[in-house]
Amino acid sequence: MSEHPLRLATIDLAAVRHNVLAVKAVVGDADVMAVVKAGGYGHGAAEIARAAVTAGATWLGVADVDEGVALREAGLTEPILAWLHGPEAYFDVAIRYGIDVGVSSVAQLDAVAGAARRVAGDAVIDGAEALAGRPSGSEPAETPAVGRQTRDDHAATPARVQIKVDTGLGRNGAVEADWVAVFARAAELEAGGVLSVVGIFSHLSNASDDDDLEQLARFESAVEQARGAGLNPAIIHLAATAAALRLAETRLSLVRLGIGLYGLSPFDGVTSAELGLRPAMTLEGRVIAVKRVPPESGVSYGYTYRTTTESTLALVGLGYADGIPRLGSNRAPVWINGNTYTVTGRIAMDQFVVDMHDDAVEVGDRVVLFGDPAEGYPAVEEWAEAAETINYEIVTRIGPRFERRYLA
Ligand SMILES: *Cc1c(COP(=O)(O)O)cnc(C)c1O
Repeated sequence: MSEHPLRLATIDLAAVRHNVLAVKAVVGDADVMAVVKAGGYGHGAAEIARAAVTAGATWLGVADVDEGVALREAGLTEPILAWLHGPEAYFDVAIRYGIDVGVSSVAQLDAVAGAARRVAGDAVIDGAEALAGRPSGSEPAETPAVGRQTRDDHAATPARVQIKVDTGLGRNGAVEADWVAVFARAAELEAGGVLSVVGIFSHLSNASDDDDLEQLARFESAVEQARGAGLNPAIIHLAATAAALRLAETRLSLVRLGIGLYGLSPFDGVTSAELGLRPAMTLEGRVIAVKRVPPESGVSYGYTYRTTTESTLALVGLGYADGIPRLGSNRAPVWINGNTYTVTGRIAMDQFVVDMHDDAVEVGDRVVLFGDPAEGYPAVEEWAEAAETINYEIVTRIGPRFERRYLA
């Protein structure tokens, strides 16, 4: 770890805590699930999870079981929900690590049940081994120690599932025609003691408030049907950041806070500051070469930029291999020594150029691509606009060559 790394993402955990508190103040009684999938949206899953929990998040959300396991191995003990599983999903691991799984079909319920029976079978074998391995002459154990019942400290018996219903997004979740079958199978497996349905959830399209409210109505009818089938899910949730902030009716028992946790806005044209949020990540590179060139000098591949006057060019050690979108060429802003410039010429794999004109710049100077606009840095949304995408994509694509540093 060098003192001045070539590529640095600084993550302000105080901003993350602030964002959780800000959202909690808006959502009132609803619990907050910190969504830390995709490496905490590029910010570091475990570090963000710990900060969010400190500020009062009581749940962690991830896409797949492996991401949940990584959180457990990093020492996080809060309830975790994972909702995206491949066709060969092997739920044994989720059960052993005490990770709730979102299930969308009868087939997934049956897969969880099979895994629960295998895990329970292993626990019995472990118990038998413990008895068989007892030194002769010792007293028979009155009851096997609790720790012998299951292989892992976190293992959940019965297995914990949350049923995902599709209320109109068209991604995963059981479609309405399958609700009866899914709820019936879940109730049967729950009655058999194999699994427990602790929650029911769905996800919104954010197409419009009207569309979201229509999904809410469908979701309420799904919850009613689930109860009619004998299920009693305690955790009922629908809203991600956007609806949590804007559609009070959707808050229910828990909101799944993703982008807002990182201090970024889920709404087009609405800034972080307008939502009372603080962007947590500052992304920077460094000037690695400086040169003075004559007018009409071509800059970078394809000469998509030429200097108009004698100019100072600063070379920055960041490129598209680091997740810096090539579409930002000749469009996206960078902060150097207190001023904002535009990337000049094509962004290459490892480097890009900034025409500084006659401004002073030295090798080693910091080049901030984005951070908190309140500190004078460009907003991540300016990069998103330059790259014709959304803030989510910019931060989640930050590459592995970046060093991440955390401000407590
Ligand atoms: C990613 C995700 C979220 C978080 O969404 P944000 O818009 O980032 O708050 C919530 N729920 C589900 C199911 C998700 O996949």
